Amino acid sequence: MKKIALYLLLKHIHMKNIIYLFTLIILFSGCNSNQKSSQEELPRIAIAGIAIESSTFSPAQTTEEAFHSKLGNDVFSIYPFFRKDSTYLKQAQWFPTLKGHALPGGIVTREAYESLVGKTLAMLKENLPYDGLFLDIHGAMSVVGLEDPEGDFIKRIREVIGTETLISTCMDLHGNVSPRLAQHTDIMTCYRLAPHEDSWESKERAVYNLIERLKSGKGKPAYKAWIPVPILLPGEMTSTRIEPGKSLYAQVAPIAAEEGIIDAGIWVGYAWADEVRNHAVVMVTGDNKEKVIQSAEQLAQSFWEVRHDFEFVAPTTTLEECLQLALVSKQKPFIISDMGDNPTAGGAGDVTWTMEQLLNRKEFRSPDGPQLIYASLPAPQLVEQAVKVGIGGQVSGKAGAMVDDRYAPPIQIDGVVKAIKHGDRHAETEVVVQTGSIQVILTKNRKPYHHEKDFTDLNLKPREADILMVKIGYLVPDLYNMRGDWRMALTPGGVDQDMNRLPYKNIRRPMFPLDQDMKDPNLSAQLIPLSNKK
Ligand SMILES: [Zn+2]
Repeated sequence: MKKIALYLLLKHIHMKNIIYLFTLIILFSGCNSNQKSSQEELPRIAIAGIAIESSTFSPAQTTEEAFHSKLGNDVFSIYPFFRKDSTYLKQAQWFPTLKGHALPGGIVTREAYESLVGKTLAMLKENLPYDGLFLDIHGAMSVVGLEDPEGDFIKRIREVIGTETLISTCMDLHGNVSPRLAQHTDIMTCYRLAPHEDSWESKERAVYNLIERLKSGKGKPAYKAWIPVPILLPGEMTSTRIEPGKSLYAQVAPIAAEEGIIDAGIWVGYAWADEVRNHAVVMVTGDNKEKVIQSAEQLAQSFWEVRHDFEFVAPTTTLEECLQLALVSKQKPFIISDMGDNPTAGGAGDVTWTMEQLLNRKEFRSPDGPQLIYASLPAPQLVEQAVKVGIGGQVSGKAGAMVDDRYAPPIQIDGVVKAIKHGDRHAETEVVVQTGSIQVILTKNRKPYHHEKDFTDLNLKPREADILMVKIGYLVPDLYNMRGDWRMALTPGGVDQDMNRLPYKNIRRPMFPLDQDMKDPNLSAQLIPLSNKK
C-alpha cells in the first residue's frame, strides 16, 4: 500500500505538492516508530496441543514417541498459515509450546500422557501471562486409567494460565466434547468435512477467531450452547461427501457466518472408545443468545432427523464376497478396504486375518494369478532380512500379529524382494515382497497407505493392479479417484465396523443405532458456563 501511494504521488508530483510529500514522509516514519512500540502491545498468544484418536477396543498401546512432538518455534512449521510471510505472525506475540500428533492407535499409556502434559505446562509457565491460547487437539484420545483426557488437559492448562485467557480450540469432528472441555474452552470449532480436506482451514479459523476477538476487545463469547446428541456412528457412515452428511454439514458454515455467532460445529464423536463422553455433540458460540441457542437446536434436530439415513460410504460386505466380486470385475483397480484393522481409526494395523485368507486361496498362488497389492503388515524381522538380501533376494519369515493376535497368528511369508525404501516418518523402512501374485508391503513400523505416491515410491503400479487392498475405511480422495470399483470388507480388528460386536459398558444409553427403538431425546441447548464463571 505504501509503495503504491508513493508511486502515485511521485507520478503526479508538482512543486506545490512538495510540502505535502515531506508531510507524508514524516507520517510514514511516524508509522514505523509506532509499529515498534505497538509490538509490545500485540496480544500474547500461546499454542499447545496433543492429538490422537485412540481405540480402547484394541490391545495396542501408544507411547510418547508416536506423537512426534514439536517444541517451541518448531511448532510453526506444522501450520501452512504460520509460514514465514504469514500475516498472523505479525498480529500477535506467539509462544508455541508443545504440539504432538500421533497416528491413530491404541490407548495412550499414562506415562506418555503425563510426560506430554508436563512438558506443555512447564513451557506455558515460562511466558505467563497470555491473552489467548490456540489449542489444537483431536478430541478422541484415550489414556490408561483416565476419563476424558482432553477435559483433564484443558483443566490443567487453566490451572497454569488462569481463567481470563481466551482459549480457541480446534478439533477433529470425530472427537468428543465433554461438558468439562466445553466449559474451559471459549471459542470452539471443528472440521466440516470428512475426509478432512478442510483441516488446515479449520485450524486457521480457530486462530483467526481468536485474534479477532482479542483485537476487537470483545473477548470471550457471551454464550456457549452445547447439545449432546445420542448418536454414535462410525466415520465410515458419516462422510460429508454423500448424503445425509453432506446436507447436514452444509448447514454449519451459513450459521457460523451469521451476525452474533462466532462458530458452530457438529461432532460425530468416536465410536471405538467406551466412555460417557462418546456420542455426537453440537456446539455453537456467540454473543446473540437467541441465535446461539436456536441454531444449536436446529443443527441437533437436523442430525437426529436423518439418523436412519446414514449408510456406509461404499457397499459393505464380507471379505469373501468382496473377493468374489473383485475376481470377476473388469474395473481396475478393484479396491477393497480391510476396515476392521484400519490404523487411521485406531486399529493396531497388524491384524493378519485378511492376509491369511488371501494366502489360503488358490487364485493367488501363481505369479500369473490376479495381481493383488496388499498394504500393509508390520514385520520388522522380515524387513531386516529383505534389506540384507536386497532386491531380487528371497525372504522367509513371520509378519504381523505382534500387537493384535486375537483373530490370526503371525503369518508365514515366503517370497522375492521387489522394492526397498528407507526414511518414511512412520514406517522407517518399507519393503515389497512378492508371494504368488500378491505383492505385500511389509514395514518396520505400521503405516497407513493413503496416497498413490505411497505405492509408486515402492515401484508399485496401483492403477494397473487387479485388486488393491488397504487397511483403511473410507478412501481419501487420492485413492477414491483412482478406484475402478470399491467395496469395504467387514473384517475383524480393533475398529470393527459392526458396532453390535463391540463390548460397550460405559457409554450413555439409549444410544442410536445400538438402541434402534429409542424415544426422541431432549435436544434443547444447554448453556455452558463461561470459563471464568463458576
Ligand atoms: Zn477424523
